[in-house]
Amino acid sequence: MLARNESLHYFACMNLECEILIIGAGAVGLSAGLALAQAGRKVIIAGKIDTGASARTVALFGASQKFFDRLGLLDSIRQTGEPLEVMRIIDDTGSLFRLPETNFRAREIGLEEFGTNIENRDLLDLLTTAARHYSHLTVLDDYVTQLKLGTDHIEAELGADRKIIAKLILAADGRQSPTRQFCKIASTEQSYPQVAITALLGHQRPHNNVSTEFHTRKGPFTLVPLPAKGDQPHRSSLVWMTDSQEARRLLALPSSDLTRAMEKQAHSLLGKFTLLGAMSQFPMSLMRAERLYAERVVLIGDAAHSFPPIGAQGLNLGLRDVGHSVETILAHSDPGQESVLRAYAERRTADIKLRSFGVDLLNRSLLTQMLPVDFARGAGLLALSQIGPLRRMIMREGIEPKGRTPMMMR
Ligand SMILES: Cc1cc2nc3c(=O)[nH]c(=O)nc-3n(C[C@H](O)[C@H](O)[C@H](O)COP(=O)(O)OP(=O)(O)OC[C@H]3O[C@@H](n4cnc5c(N)ncnc54)[C@H](O)[C@@H]3O)c2cc1C
Repeated sequence: MLARNESLHYFACMNLECEILIIGAGAVGLSAGLALAQAGRKVIIAGKIDTGASARTVALFGASQKFFDRLGLLDSIRQTGEPLEVMRIIDDTGSLFRLPETNFRAREIGLEEFGTNIENRDLLDLLTTAARHYSHLTVLDDYVTQLKLGTDHIEAELGADRKIIAKLILAADGRQSPTRQFCKIASTEQSYPQVAITALLGHQRPHNNVSTEFHTRKGPFTLVPLPAKGDQPHRSSLVWMTDSQEARRLLALPSSDLTRAMEKQAHSLLGKFTLLGAMSQFPMSLMRAERLYAERVVLIGDAAHSFPPIGAQGLNLGLRDVGHSVETILAHSDPGQESVLRAYAERRTADIKLRSFGVDLLNRSLLTQMLPVDFARGAGLLALSQIGPLRRMIMREGIEPKGRTPMMMR
């Protein structure tokens, strides 16, 4: 956690100056750094790059693909990841209003694919490699430990011997965001009685570029296509949201029993599963910052909002924060002035509220056993499966939200 210290002494520090300091070298921080560097701004990203294998992937939809295309990275992302052509929802709640499966096909809205699913570590590798190409973009592999906010600049300390002076901070330091806490920005938080277990799986049958989300009473069980790799011709990533007790039980099973449990939950759709590497687990919660800025500080990505991985929205939303913050910054000579920060917040608030609300509502509607709620969820899915124009509108909104997508992502 960052400590507030208004009277720091920096006599022994090496001073570095830049226009914009990005705190956090996750996918959001690195993407923001690249977009600003491409526009010629002098940027420092401070943060350790997570090179660990966390058995996680991200599905990047249309608007995010356009963003990476501008950065010259889309071809590499496509070569490393796998296209998502169909999104299938299977109601496995056992509800009275249980519906037949609903398929959303990219071709219905004139597209080859909705997006690309890529392993997190591969995306971070591509972003880090791209960052090396800009001489005015510096990545410092260290944490920010102290901050001092002023009316015309900010100062950030890394360890004991480095100080950065900048006009603006983009805080991309994740869900717990030490910067958000330092700025005393309040947040709405709530935890769910669920854990997401993630794994990379090999399987017997091809996925045919279909992502399948089984909606169960304990949360979604989602299989997302990955490309062939090594001796595995068929691979997918799994996000299995279930209650904490069940997650503990599953993770304690020998791997053969665990993969059998996965096959059962997947109704043997892809045949026999093989675990590829270690699994990860993430407690499920929702967090939304009540303000998106403080003096010369802007929150982006999970530092501003995070919610359960339903519908693959988190990073796509974070990249829209990046697009809007970059566009707002580039339109002004002093990126840290209050009018810039306010303009960014005005552009982002509705999108963030809508996505957080939508994910929360869907998750709760699965967890509840109340008939009226089941009926409403069933009626919603039925309308989506039967009414073509409504389905197409929802698909377009999912990949490129109307009116909320920055120009650089259109
Ligand atoms: C199981 C799962 C599946 C998901 N699937 C999808 C998906 O398919 N599509 C999608 O769009 N989203 C998905 N998401 C959400 C997505 O992963 C996140 O929204 C995204 O990774 C957030 O990126 P970020 O860079 O904002 O934060 P993070 O990835 O959390 O990065 C924050 C970084 O800040 C660093 N940091 C913290 N403190 C400091 C400090 N003091 N100084 C410097 N650095 C600091 C951290 O070390 C970290 O590297 C998924 C999430 C989960 C849990």
